[in-house]
Parts: sequence; C-alpha cells; structure tokens
Amino acid sequence: MTTLLVSQRNFESHVTPSGHPERPDRLRAIEQIMEQPQFAGLVRRDAPFADLMLADLVHSPSYLERLRNARPAEGIGQIDEDTFISSGSLDAASTALGAGLAALEAVVLGEADNAFCAVRPPGHHAEAETPMGFCLVNTIAIVAREAQRKHGAERVAIIDFDVHHGNGTQDIFKDDGSVFYASSHQWPLYPGTGRPSETGVGNIVNATLPAGSDGTVMREAYETLVFPALEAFAPDILLISAGFDADHRDPLAQLNWVPADFAWVTRQLMEIAERTSSGRIVSLLEGGYDRNGLATGVAAHVGALMGAAA
Ligand SMILES: [Zn+2]
Repeated sequence: MTTLLVSQRNFESHVTPSGHPERPDRLRAIEQIMEQPQFAGLVRRDAPFADLMLADLVHSPSYLERLRNARPAEGIGQIDEDTFISSGSLDAASTALGAGLAALEAVVLGEADNAFCAVRPPGHHAEAETPMGFCLVNTIAIVAREAQRKHGAERVAIIDFDVHHGNGTQDIFKDDGSVFYASSHQWPLYPGTGRPSETGVGNIVNATLPAGSDGTVMREAYETLVFPALEAFAPDILLISAGFDADHRDPLAQLNWVPADFAWVTRQLMEIAERTSSGRIVSLLEGGYDRNGLATGVAAHVGALMGAAA
C-alpha cells in the first residue's frame, strides 16, 4: 500500500483565541506521532496553495467575499459564538484545500493508493451559505466536486466519522444523488442536525450514537446502516471526513471510542473501497480536541490506511 500524508506547513496561520479547542497544537501533536518508525513508509508532501475561488463550487456566490470582509487586517475576528477568522485564516484554508486536491490527484492518478490530509481549519460544518462550527470553507465538499469536475468521477461518497454531524456537507449535497454522504455522530449534540429521518434524495445516511456509547455500538451502526448503503451506492472514489473527537478522552463529546475503533472503521471502508472504487480513498482531518486522543486516533487511522495488521 502506498499511503500519502499531506501536511500543511502554514497551519499556524489560522489563529483562534487562547483556550479555543481548535488550535494549532492539534497539528503539532499529529506531526509528532507521524515521526514514529511505523510511519517511515509514508510518502510525504507539503500542501500547495489552492485557489479559494473553488469555494464557489459548493458555497453561494457571495460566500468567499463575506469571509474576506470578515477577516481582520490583524488579530482575530469573530464569525459566530465559536467560529473565528484571523488575518491568515484564508491562507490556511487555501492550503487545507490544496492538500485535499493534491491528495485527490495523487490517488486518481495512481501515485498513491490512499491519502490522509492533516489540515485545519476543519470544514464539514460549513454550509452552502454559512461558515460555522470552527469551519470556514467546506474543504471535503470542494474536493468531492473537483473529483467529479476535473477527474471524471460520477459518484463520490463521503463518510464522516467525526463525533459531530457534518451539517455543512449534508446541506451542500442533500439534493444531489451523485454524492453519497453518511455520518455517524453523537446524538443529541451540536449542531443539532443529522436525524436518521434526514435522507436527502436517498443519498444521505445519518447514524446517531447515544452519549456514553462505545465502539461496539458504533460498529453495529456502521454494519447495519452505513456499509450496506455505501456498498449499494458504489462510489468511484471514497472521501473520509476524519474527525477524532469520538475518542473517549475528547472534551467536546461523550462517546467512548478507542484508537482500535478508528482503525476498524478505516479497514472496513478500505474493504468496501477495494470492491467499488479500486481502493481509492482520500481522508481529510476534521475535529479531535484531546491532544492524545487526536494523535492516537490519527495513528490508528493512518496505520490502517498503510495496511498495518490489526
Ligand atoms: Zn467534531
């Protein structure tokens, strides 16, 4: 297995207020654990800048202009109660997107079997009209559209195992049967969307997990709800919104996943991708706010992508 790790040199350009859970140190924790010997076989690339005008593919025409207007010349501006934009935030958003697009291209061209992008800010809460939930631009949604527009994919699947529902991704694709979106998330929890009854045009699956539940409950939800629908959809490429805030140590949620659970869901997705998508997987970091929970979850996920044994 050739696994590509795309990292973001300018991840510190996106500054959030002191004490904010979505902080640059998250990516330092990932950088550190990716230096361990078992990750020596990764192909590593720095994220290039991407044209943020590509946001127009999934966001409303005025969206980027509104973000630019909200961006302060210096310091930190506030978009909503918990979403902030600093002078360098759009530079970071640009390389987060550049990472996703570079990973997509490498996987489509067969230079890598799969890829993980260690990037911030996250994206899956950003709706067509509204940045929210620490998210400025919906990176994975743009990557999905580029898979179709630039690389000829007809059917794209996005699996989101972040502990929060990816309301933004659902909002963007709820009327588009060419994109499948499945999310597992703690329920109830922010942002309050993601009921099982929200099914789009038959292309949306929402698996709700009760607070306090562990990997056993998660595995049953995936085996009964997510995997059969994903397999039936048969995507040309599989994208993952990889959040690690379902970890038992995470301060923003109350699920009890352990690193082996992240490895398990990754391996299952790889098996389905092998059957439907020539194994092509591009994974993008979303949440994960406990330093060790994030690092060990990413290690389990990337280790699985590399084909490490259970
Ligand atoms: Zn989250």
